[in-house]
Amino acid sequence: MIDFKNVSKLYPNDVKALSKVNLHIDKGEFVFVVGASGAGKSTFLKMIMREEVPTSGEIIIDGESLNAMKARKVPYYRRKLGIVFQDFRLIPTKTVYENVAFAMHVIGASQKDISRRVAYALSLVNLSQKAKSYPNQLSGGEQQRVALARALVNDADIIVADEPTGNIDPEMSRDIVDLLSQINQNKGSTVIMVTHAVDLIKSYDKRIVTIKNGCVVSDTAHPEIEKRQKKKEQDTQPESTSTLGGYYEAPSEDAEIEDFLKNYGSEDFNDQI
Ligand code: ADP
Repeated sequence: MIDFKNVSKLYPNDVKALSKVNLHIDKGEFVFVVGASGAGKSTFLKMIMREEVPTSGEIIIDGESLNAMKARKVPYYRRKLGIVFQDFRLIPTKTVYENVAFAMHVIGASQKDISRRVAYALSLVNLSQKAKSYPNQLSGGEQQRVALARALVNDADIIVADEPTGNIDPEMSRDIVDLLSQINQNKGSTVIMVTHAVDLIKSYDKRIVTIKNGCVVSDTAHPEIEKRQKKKEQDTQPESTSTLGGYYEAPSEDAEIEDFLKNYGSEDFNDQI
């Protein structure tokens, strides 16, 4: 369903955000994408949303090359996608119902379809009771559930979630991932969720792709990627990279992810670090 073939992205300031990414995601898969800040995760999602195009390499989604897609076809392509953002992006002057219905209005759905599908989407996220509320009357977790309803109301084939739990508390975060998981299992939507919340995701038995410095360095569906990357790093890196000018480099999100991989990566990875 989603194929990245040797995809690299160089921004105009010469920052290489992605480097030779090869990735295949099957229809109906659920994939977590993790990595430190600046690793290239958002760029990866923007490529899927066709907000950015590769500098080299090719992205094929549902058999169609995004590189070659004409600008006027992009809005139609995006109807395949349900997008959830970290900051919810609800319209404050519209009710919960109207926020979800809006996603259908813009694609010209009939009034009958709208009322039927919005009611269904709100029931899926357990928010039927709040249909008449405004976003500012809801908790962060509830607002994100509205955003989720909006993402799935048009029956998107692919749900793309960019740090959807970044602005909500841990308990609510679990609700959001559980809901994404249900949507994935019951409706067969492909789900791609970018996150920093490694503690949250380790309790789910899902595929985890780790991006570091623009490269896929680990993929639990393909553990050999991690082995290859580790070998490459050992062959090319100087003995120690942990000191900078004599100072110890502070633990970062990177360290948290390394730690996660140590505990949840493949056995070979554990042997090598
Ligand atoms: P992440 O989502 O993992 O934090 P990003 O994909 O946002 O990472 O960024 C990857 C790298 O590309 C970073 O070094 C970032 O500063 C750079 N970058 C991202 N977007 C742009 C842009 N529009 N123009 C220039 N550089 C960018």
